[in-house]
Amino acid sequence: MKKLIFITLLLLLAGLHADAQYFGRNKPRYRTFDFKINETPHFKIHHYLKNDQMTTYLSKISEQWYDNHRKIFGKDILFKNPIIVYNNHAEFQQTNTISGDIGIGTGGVTEALKNRIVIPLSFSLQSTHHVLVHEMVHAFQYNNIINGDSTSLQSLANTPLWMIEGMAEYFSLGNKDPFTAMWMRDAVINNILPEISKLNTAKYFPYRYGQSLLAFLGGYYGDDKLNKMFMNTAMYGLEAGFIITFGQDTKTISQLWHTALKDQYSPLLKDRKEKPQGKN
Ligand SMILES: [Zn+2]
Repeated sequence: MKKLIFITLLLLLAGLHADAQYFGRNKPRYRTFDFKINETPHFKIHHYLKNDQMTTYLSKISEQWYDNHRKIFGKDILFKNPIIVYNNHAEFQQTNTISGDIGIGTGGVTEALKNRIVIPLSFSLQSTHHVLVHEMVHAFQYNNIINGDSTSLQSLANTPLWMIEGMAEYFSLGNKDPFTAMWMRDAVINNILPEISKLNTAKYFPYRYGQSLLAFLGGYYGDDKLNKMFMNTAMYGLEAGFIITFGQDTKTISQLWHTALKDQYSPLLKDRKEKPQGKN
């Protein structure tokens, strides 16, 4: 019984970060890649790039962001964390680091067992940077969960997707993101801001709502609370995790979050009417 749960969770995890779609067919492999390894103080970067500048860039930002994330998560990763880089998305889709198919919309993958981060070079340097830093947050999340005194990978079943992805977005993009702002303005206009306890459904896109809520929590209570929230939720579930971390329940914090969003966006939306130019 226990084994069954564990396997289910792993499949779920693969799905979580890969958005993997299982079509029940074998993954096409067109070629093998001649991987080399670049070692930095905290990473082993596996790649087959011919562009030394790109290799240097990836090594540099990996180390910079290691320091940032290390401060947030409070724990070192005690081995050189593997990062596997594919030259483009089509080749990334052929990776054998995870068993499921990787959809066209998947930006990167982090798998829990070996903490491997798997990414393609993206269409822009900025996008590659975002995907790498986002996936690195998942590596730190896994590291804390696996090495926590009272947590194991099974504990991730307690953490809603908006929290996992919201952290990865907030700690890679920061608190200002035009896509998230667009979604939240829309939710304010249409009066459809969700309660935190109702956020974990397919109706609310976890990346955008998660980033908005994490940005609010980080700004209101301090970024140092966010890892505590993550670990407490993994241990005790969402409701108890919030009360232990913030001293308030999700209902109260939902109201604070909604008020902050309305205060931010309502003045911009007031008295806005369509004023078509020219004569009818
Ligand atoms: Zn993610």
